[in-house]
Amino acid sequence: MIPARYGASRFPGKLMQDLGGKSVIVRTYQAAKNTGLFDEVYVVTDSDIIREEIENNGGKAIMSKKTHESGSDRIAEAVENMDVDIVVNVQGDEPFTSKKGLQQVLDVFNGKDAHTIDLASLMTEIDDWKEISDPNCVKVITDEDSFALYFSRSPIPYPRDKNADVKYYKHKGIYAFRKEALMDFYRLPMRSLEAVEKIECIRYLEYGKRIKMAVTTAQGVEIDTPEDLVEANRLLKKEDKKSVNNKFRNFPMVPKVVFGAGCFNQLPEILAPQRQKNAPFIFLVDDVFKNNNDLINRIKLRFNDKLIFISADKEPETEQIDQLVKEITSEFKKKPSGIIGIGGGTLLDIAKAVSIMLTNDGSAADYQGWDLVKKKAVYHIGIPTISGTGAEVSRTTVLLGPVRKLGINSDFTPFDQVVLDPDLTKGVPKNQWFYTGMDCFIHCVESLNGTFLNAFSQSYGEKAYDLCKEIFLEQSTTEAEARAKLMMASWHGGMSIAYSQVGVAHAMSYGLSYVLGTKHGIGNCIVFNQLEEFYKDDVVVFKKMVKKHDIEIPKGVCANLTDNQLDKMIEVALSLVPLWENALGDDWQTLMTPEKLKALYLKM
Ligand code: NAD
Ligand code: ZN
Repeated sequence: MIPARYGASRFPGKLMQDLGGKSVIVRTYQAAKNTGLFDEVYVVTDSDIIREEIENNGGKAIMSKKTHESGSDRIAEAVENMDVDIVVNVQGDEPFTSKKGLQQVLDVFNGKDAHTIDLASLMTEIDDWKEISDPNCVKVITDEDSFALYFSRSPIPYPRDKNADVKYYKHKGIYAFRKEALMDFYRLPMRSLEAVEKIECIRYLEYGKRIKMAVTTAQGVEIDTPEDLVEANRLLKKEDKKSVNNKFRNFPMVPKVVFGAGCFNQLPEILAPQRQKNAPFIFLVDDVFKNNNDLINRIKLRFNDKLIFISADKEPETEQIDQLVKEITSEFKKKPSGIIGIGGGTLLDIAKAVSIMLTNDGSAADYQGWDLVKKKAVYHIGIPTISGTGAEVSRTTVLLGPVRKLGINSDFTPFDQVVLDPDLTKGVPKNQWFYTGMDCFIHCVESLNGTFLNAFSQSYGEKAYDLCKEIFLEQSTTEAEARAKLMMASWHGGMSIAYSQVGVAHAMSYGLSYVLGTKHGIGNCIVFNQLEEFYKDDVVVFKKMVKKHDIEIPKGVCANLTDNQLDKMIEVALSLVPLWENALGDDWQTLMTPEKLKALYLKM
């Protein structure tokens, strides 16, 4: 039960204040609910505003009928006619209420002495004398079995000898009551000690009840003042970032790579030591090579090895991965010795995903996100036949799922071996060469202009950026040189975003792709062409490249969209928070509104 009074004396309306996009009370409610510890969670309030706020956010609220002196009275009224054993009181202004603390207060009722306990509460050790002597901080002392002896605003015990070895505990306002104890509190009048200290739980002691205390280290943040709110907002931002993007990354890199024109011939040698008895290698090959006997013959299938041709016309889908895995596991009793992906970003991503799903249960859609993969993938090799995406080095495999387009981002995603043979990219059609090459150029621009940039990303990004300029703008390079350089640019571009993030063009291109099925490379080009406002000089360079190679960038792709489609596009793009944060900084939401994004899309 979360007692929630609208008119707090020190900070009126505080429970309705904004905390990272949600009201304080909704955050508290969801924090309690998300612990999964309770059969039911209710907010008990005197205010229609708070009731509506909770109900509009899918929660349950109860209006208290009477005016109450305290939160305990308020929840007592609400549970009077409910059939419950234990009632936990969570403060409405503690939005960071943690599962750990609540679990501790509930665990008290599982101990040997549970039957002697009327209620349980939490305390935390403090050692700063300023806090110990602060009357706003309620101290508690207990007996050897952790039953509360007294609560006070004075320092207790009083240290006559200043060097005495004594611990001080601060009381935290989380309680778990047996229902009878709570109802007693409600009915029994206040006595003198409670009245003089103005500490509710002294009433229990004055009526001879037993309060068991548990020690917690969980740090809550109470919102008592506008300054607390500012601090809480700051904390929340920090937490959010830590969870995905701004902690120090500890990522795996491809452990083995072979490079050079013709090195593809070395594949059988590379595979031999990895071959396990009766376990085939499965080659997933772009079907553009179906009639390319030269390439197919060089694969040198052995024993029960299997070759599967796959079209790259559509971007990979989770359902497609599940289907492939089913096909492989139903044909072979033994897990494959390895999966070899041969093709562009599409085939490389399919190979990574299949190798993961051969050792992890369920559907590929279950693993879209960060670090959801639990088991090491089957040995997998990536052999790019077109350069630019960086998929050969990246820690992700981008999939279109039933509800989202999102990568399986994990330590098990990267290839165990990559074969970089620039000759394999010989047959790539010119437009496609340009679009996929520009994916690399745009990775560099977004990484180098992003707020997440550090020396690690910069060192890779700058090299790849310069290579792209050489390849796409200068005359001097031969075709063979250009192929080799683009292959390395792709690699470096991928490494650059491994420790930073992409930006505006990728966020918007994901929106296009989700709604219109626009492919990654061309989608990026369509978008980037209109992004002078964000990447001014680089858009000029890009346009020069387009002109030099006489490439056509489609225009007007959003002209005939329905409002619904446009809204969905905007929603998908804006949901990619880390990309916007990298591109525009912490205040990105004020710089990129849905209206602004709409105007940009309509230009494309
Ligand atoms: P692609 O794999 O879709 O291939 C593009 C076209 O080029 C296809 O028609 C293909 O058949 C053809 N092609 C490939 N090699 C050829 C060759 N040697 N000769 C003739 N034709 C050839 O293109 P892409 O741009 O490399 O990859 C795009 C995909 O990569 C998207 O699905 C995107 O989501 C993904 N991607 C992944 C990452 C990652 O880090 N995992 C990064 C960027 C993009
Ligand atoms: Zn990309």
